[in-house]
Amino acid sequence: MPWQQALQALGELSQHEPMASHTTMAVGGAATWYFKPNDKPSLCQALPVIPENISILPLGRGSNLLVPDHGFDGMVIDLGLLNSIQVHHQTLTAQAGSRMSKVAQTAANAGLSGLEFMATVPGDLGGGIAMNAGAFGQQVSDTCLHASIVHHDGNEEILSNQQLQMRYRHSHIPKQSIIVSASFELQMGEQQEIRNAMREMRQKRSLTQPLALANCGSVFKNPDGDHAARLIEAAGLKGKSIGGAQISELHANFIVNHGNACSDDVASLIQLAQQCVFEKFAIKLETEVRILEVLQ
Ligand SMILES: Cc1cc2nc3c(=O)[nH]c(=O)nc-3n(C[C@H](O)[C@H](O)[C@H](O)COP(=O)(O)OP(=O)(O)OC[C@H]3O[C@@H](n4cnc5c(N)ncnc54)[C@H](O)[C@@H]3O)c2cc1C
Repeated sequence: MPWQQALQALGELSQHEPMASHTTMAVGGAATWYFKPNDKPSLCQALPVIPENISILPLGRGSNLLVPDHGFDGMVIDLGLLNSIQVHHQTLTAQAGSRMSKVAQTAANAGLSGLEFMATVPGDLGGGIAMNAGAFGQQVSDTCLHASIVHHDGNEEILSNQQLQMRYRHSHIPKQSIIVSASFELQMGEQQEIRNAMREMRQKRSLTQPLALANCGSVFKNPDGDHAARLIEAAGLKGKSIGGAQISELHANFIVNHGNACSDDVASLIQLAQQCVFEKFAIKLETEVRILEVLQ
């Protein structure tokens, strides 16, 4: 049986899938293959069937991903159907495709504290582990016990917090492997206090970030002891546009898509910000957003 037929029996398989529809920046060309496994056993069966010469890109919400206009010549694996969340005593375990906001809500409902920040991060848990997402003084690595990953041969492995080597917006995930779930050890707290904290975080976000327009969150990591937004603004680039993309007038570390941007417009603004900040402050801004061309 050709591998395509095998995958069709294990989930949704499509060809030439437009990635602009799967990323919050809403830009980028098509993925040659797009596969959405039905569940974890389907994913484990599917992976060894995919020919080794096809690159794999695990996808969550696409909220930290810039796909080039010429697309991705490989297979995007969308974990969206792996989305169960369970709580046992003070341990929360969730599958990779769970929205982080749902994970935060589930923890709050169980009176568990430690994941409040997830209410404000628009990605899925797998992306959150891969990026060691964080905000408001909390980050994934503070409470993550371990993550379960599946290798290309379909075998599963559990990586401890230490093995994940999580640091600022980075985790070590073996290449061509996929995070399928993760567990967190949380603190008991008062439900209402946890909910209030989440509400306050959301309110702060809505005042300081350009949430009405398509974007990919913070474009650059903050350099040691400084803020990328401050540097970009001081370089005179706040509000600068290229094509349909603009360095946000509200928050200079955000690039927004006014509806007609292409990936090249966004990439050009990224390069311009890096160049101007380097010329003015001799600081190299490193991207937080994962740029697919660089990943391949
Ligand atoms: C409005 C806005 C606000 C944001 N605020 C924050 C914030 O406060 N803090 C913060 O840290 N981030 C923030 N982000 C960025 C983003 O939401 C996070 O980085 C998030 O963790 C990405 O999750 P995702 O599911 O969208 O990942 P994706 O964008 O889909 O993927 C990101 C990377 O992770 C990899 N990946 C995804 N899933 C898996 C998996 N299952 N296994 C292995 N690798 C995987 C992808 O291949 C890719 O390399 C924000 C983004 C937006 C748009």
